[in-house]
Amino acid sequence: MLVDSHCHLDFPDLADRLPDVLLRMQENRVDLAVCIGVNLEDFPKVLALAEAQPNLFATVGVHPEYTDVEEPSLEQLVQLAAHPKVIAIGETGLDYYWQKDQPEWQRERFRTHIRAAKVSGKPLVVHTRDSAVDTLRLLKEEGAGAVGGVMHCFTESYEVAKAAIELGFYISFSGIVTFKNAKDLQATCKALPLDRLLIETDSPYLAPVPHRGQTNEPAWVAYVASYIAQLRGEPVEQIAKQTTDNFFQCFQLNRSYS
Ligand SMILES: [Zn+2]
Ligand SMILES: [Zn+2]
Repeated sequence: MLVDSHCHLDFPDLADRLPDVLLRMQENRVDLAVCIGVNLEDFPKVLALAEAQPNLFATVGVHPEYTDVEEPSLEQLVQLAAHPKVIAIGETGLDYYWQKDQPEWQRERFRTHIRAAKVSGKPLVVHTRDSAVDTLRLLKEEGAGAVGGVMHCFTESYEVAKAAIELGFYISFSGIVTFKNAKDLQATCKALPLDRLLIETDSPYLAPVPHRGQTNEPAWVAYVASYIAQLRGEPVEQIAKQTTDNFFQCFQLNRSYS
């Protein structure tokens, strides 16, 4: 059994052919997937997926890249996260790649999400790009270790991964780890303890080799798992079992869902 810890099934590329996407998950033993919220406007679509399918879950949050969207309040996030199929707050975090002026509102938005996670008692799905120092600083300042969560689509250094793990976070690898030019990331993935790793697709983006460049989908998390198995010299069954166990641990879920 495999879990895709991060996908965007409400995005048009995937939503339009959902039955096919779900069937392919089944064929590849991808038994669960988490549909990640990126703004409040589209959250009803994300939640509807999780409500309709027993093997899909949802998260609620506003992505740091999104500018022309409703700014969430702590109360709103807490209220939406109270739904039993909403298993985390996010995706949230910082992204200085797209917003090079590193605006203060990104950090404020991130702090609101961390506070909401602590009130809800649910973990965080953290996005960080070109902003690792501030991301770790804010997680520490706000006491995010109380809820933990996942550093999703991880592309930072081994040191950043270690610091996040020390804070109580898991490190999730996407198809990027399979890319030929991702040598540093592959070394990081190899060196980290298996009991802190998760896997994801971030579909429809970032399809793993051998589908690089195509529209990604949750079934292809199987390629991420087999690549990591080969990289680490561990059986794929072990990678599948441990990342699934880690998923249930990270999101504080009862195994009756599986
Ligand atoms: Zn992200
Ligand atoms: Zn995402």
